[in-house]
Amino acid sequence: MGTSTHEKLIRTIEVANELEKNIQNLVFFLGDDRESTKKSNYLVNFFRQFQRESLIQENSKFPGTPYEFLELLQKPIKDWGFFNLQDLEQQKIDTDLIILSQTSGVTQEANNLLHEFNSSEEIEAEVILQVLKYCRKHIVTDPSMQEKYVLFRTYLIRNPLVEAKHRNRSINKIFGRDGSFFIEMLHECYENIIGSYKRICPHCGWTLKIKEGEKSCLSRDCIESYQSNTGLDEKYAFNERKHKRRTLEIIQRTTVIPGLQELKLAELLQQNKFEIVLYPNLEADGDIQILPFANSKQVINIDVKNYSSPIALARKLLRDSDKSNLKDCIIAVPSDKGSNSYINLTMRYLSDRGLEGVTIKRFQTIIDELKSIRKEKKDVSDIFA
Ligand SMILES: [Zn+2]
Repeated sequence: MGTSTHEKLIRTIEVANELEKNIQNLVFFLGDDRESTKKSNYLVNFFRQFQRESLIQENSKFPGTPYEFLELLQKPIKDWGFFNLQDLEQQKIDTDLIILSQTSGVTQEANNLLHEFNSSEEIEAEVILQVLKYCRKHIVTDPSMQEKYVLFRTYLIRNPLVEAKHRNRSINKIFGRDGSFFIEMLHECYENIIGSYKRICPHCGWTLKIKEGEKSCLSRDCIESYQSNTGLDEKYAFNERKHKRRTLEIIQRTTVIPGLQELKLAELLQQNKFEIVLYPNLEADGDIQILPFANSKQVINIDVKNYSSPIALARKLLRDSDKSNLKDCIIAVPSDKGSNSYINLTMRYLSDRGLEGVTIKRFQTIIDELKSIRKEKKDVSDIFA
């Protein structure tokens, strides 16, 4: 038996009422002032629309009140009867997804999905932009800025967890007289690790959160990696003495996780004896540039895009095109994601919306085609126009 008196109970009921009022205010704009009406309209409209749509779907659960909607958010989406499961599966969305957890709010899986669709992965973190700006400014007189930028970026990708002490010495050696600038920038990319961890993520190398037996990390690739590594052996042990700092979440999302695929393709190309430049022209020409080979005098620029869902990829390309940001690059997708149907779906989505002329190839296709150009002395422009 506990020790709290009825006074505590009354206070708890008061707080519960306060909470309820907030939900009501938010969802049903009970507030009279215009500002709260304006703010809650989005929710009200969404909720009413959701109700209308669930009414016309034969087996859909119908949330009569915001509370029932909250309950629904805590059930796997496949049980709602609301979504087209075939469509979700085609988009590689796990139909067991739960949006709201009873204990910790919106789930990591739901947020990962949201991040992918909103392409926040491709917004550069402020500190990376600062480094880019510095390098672009100085490259006019110092061509080594290209190499230093690549070193900076690949350092982050390869070192999500660091031992704070040793970092400066080795970095200083690499960056020479720009050392203090790059060290300062690196410093801003990391934070002290607070809390205790037992494992690191097999995919992205970050601290792996394990709560009540459930693991969670930042991307869909991360989830797949620990689902297939159920034991998570010693190789992925978190070392409290060695791991003192970690990259900020935004660096992990915007630089490290996408960067892993960029480096993977770069390594594949190098293994096959193609000469490449990473982040060519300080990223203005994409992620990877393949230098001329065989008889060709032409470079090939590649942008790596790592989206599980073809529609997420298409939406990103459309957004870039709208903003005239679409680089003149081959779009490369990891081999395990870019099936024929994935590429066809993306292309169809693009052409239905008037965007033509984008070339999307999976990693392995790029390698195979490059090899055949080299072997048969074909012209690069036959394939990579
Ligand atoms: Zn991860």
